[in-house]
Amino acid sequence: MKSCAKCLIPETAEATTFDDTGTCSVCNQIEFKEEKVDWADRGRQLDDLVAQFKDKGLYDCIVPFSGGKDSTYQLWYIVTQLKMKPLVVRFDHGFYRQTLEENNKRTFKILGVDVVQFTPSWHVVRELMLESLKRRGDF
Ligand SMILES: [Zn+2]
Repeated sequence: MKSCAKCLIPETAEATTFDDTGTCSVCNQIEFKEEKVDWADRGRQLDDLVAQFKDKGLYDCIVPFSGGKDSTYQLWYIVTQLKMKPLVVRFDHGFYRQTLEENNKRTFKILGVDVVQFTPSWHVVRELMLESLKRRGDF
């Protein structure tokens, strides 16, 4: 079985590809992130964006929120670190678990944010799921 030349992850790992040198996509991504991205410049670009929109209206930005770790971290960072006032926007497809809904409510309460939730009709959700399945093989 083939495995990564650097981290030994096996070729059977889900969504992992290997380059010509036998290095996995995860190792290549880490190397890119650490060596090719100018994080200080990215920080300045973010500061410029924040200055451009902060305290200019009722809300400073819109945060799409699923309740997963990425959107939760993003919301936490915007509120607690950047001190911005976001409007949180959610799309409820009807498949969220009860524990996720409870975690989201707790997150919104702790961070003190306004939330708009859009819940389309089941017919629309079905059509979107079918279209996603056709286009991407996954809904
Ligand atoms: Zn690797």
